[in-house]
Amino acid sequence: MSQTTLVPLSVRTNYQFKITRIIDHTPLIRELYLELTNQPHFLFKAGQFVMLHVPVEGAKPALRAYSVASTDALINGFKLIFKFVETGIASNYVWGLKGDEILNMTGPFGKVFFVEPPAEQIVFLNTGSGISQHFSFLESKMEKYPNLNYKLYFGVRTEADIYYDSELKRLKEKLPNFHYEFVLSRPSDSWTGRKGYVQDCLKDFDYKNTPTTFYMCGNGAMIKDVKKQLLEIDGLDKQQVWAEAFD
Ligand SMILES: Cc1cc2nc3c(=O)[nH]c(=O)nc-3n(C[C@H](O)[C@H](O)[C@H](O)COP(=O)(O)OP(=O)(O)OC[C@H]3O[C@@H](n4cnc5c(N)ncnc54)[C@H](O)[C@@H]3O)c2cc1C
Repeated sequence: MSQTTLVPLSVRTNYQFKITRIIDHTPLIRELYLELTNQPHFLFKAGQFVMLHVPVEGAKPALRAYSVASTDALINGFKLIFKFVETGIASNYVWGLKGDEILNMTGPFGKVFFVEPPAEQIVFLNTGSGISQHFSFLESKMEKYPNLNYKLYFGVRTEADIYYDSELKRLKEKLPNFHYEFVLSRPSDSWTGRKGYVQDCLKDFDYKNTPTTFYMCGNGAMIKDVKKQLLEIDGLDKQQVWAEAFD
C-alpha cells in the first residue's frame, strides 16, 4: 500500500517497535532493524527522524533524535544507525540491547526533504552516522530518479571506522551516475583512498555552473564549514543547501 493513501497519525502517537536484527558494523556503529507492533503504520518522508524514548530509572525517558536510514516506501518498519557516544545515555542503552526489547518512539519530525524536481547534480556530504539520512534519500528516490548525477562523500577517521561500503556498492549497481568515496581524516600509511575532510571534496567537481543541491548530515563543524563556503563565499542560494547537524 502506498503512503499517500494512508492517513498520518499524530506525532504524539506512541509507536512501539520490536528489534528484528542488530548489526554491529564496527565497535562504534550499531544498526537496528525495527518492526512496528502497536499501530497500523508509521509514515514518514525520507530525511525525517524519530525520537527514541530511552528508559531512565526513576525519571522520565530521555528523548534522542535518530534519522531514519531506510526507504520511506515501507510503512511498518525502518532501520536506524547509531554512533556510540562515550557516557551517552542513549548510546549506553542501545549498546546494552539484546534484541528482545520493545523500543518506544514518537515522530516523524524534521524538515529536511529531498528537493523536487531535483537538480541535475546531487551532492551528499556526511560524517559518522550521518549516512543514515542520505541513504534514506537514495533508497527512496532511486527508482524515480535513477539517472541523476549523485555524489556522496562519507567522512570517517580511520579504515576501521568504514562501514556501509557493501550497501553503497549495491546502490551503485542500480544508479549509473552514482559516485561515492570514503574520506579518512586519520588513515594509515597504506590507505590509497581519499584523505582529509569531506569539505575538501568540493574542489573536485563543478557546482557553480551545474545545477546542484547539497545535503549535509552529521558533524556540526563540517556543516558550518561547508555552509560558509557555499553560501557566503560562492553565493549559492539557500534552497540549494540542506543540512541536519547531529551534535
Ligand atoms: C535531527 C537529529 C538526528 C540525529 N540522528 C542521529 C542518527 O541517525 N544517529 C546517531 O547516532 N545520532 C543521531 N543524532 C544524535 C543523537 O540524537 C544523540 O545526540 C546521540 O546519539 C548522543 O546521545 P546520547 O544520549 O548517547 O548522549 P548524551 O547523553 O546526550 O551525551 C553525552 C555526552 O556526549 C556529548 N555528545 C552528545 N551527542 C554527541 C555526538 N553526536 N557526538 C559527540 N558527542 C556528543 C554530549 O555533549 C555529552 O557530553 C541526531 C541528532 C539530531 C538533532
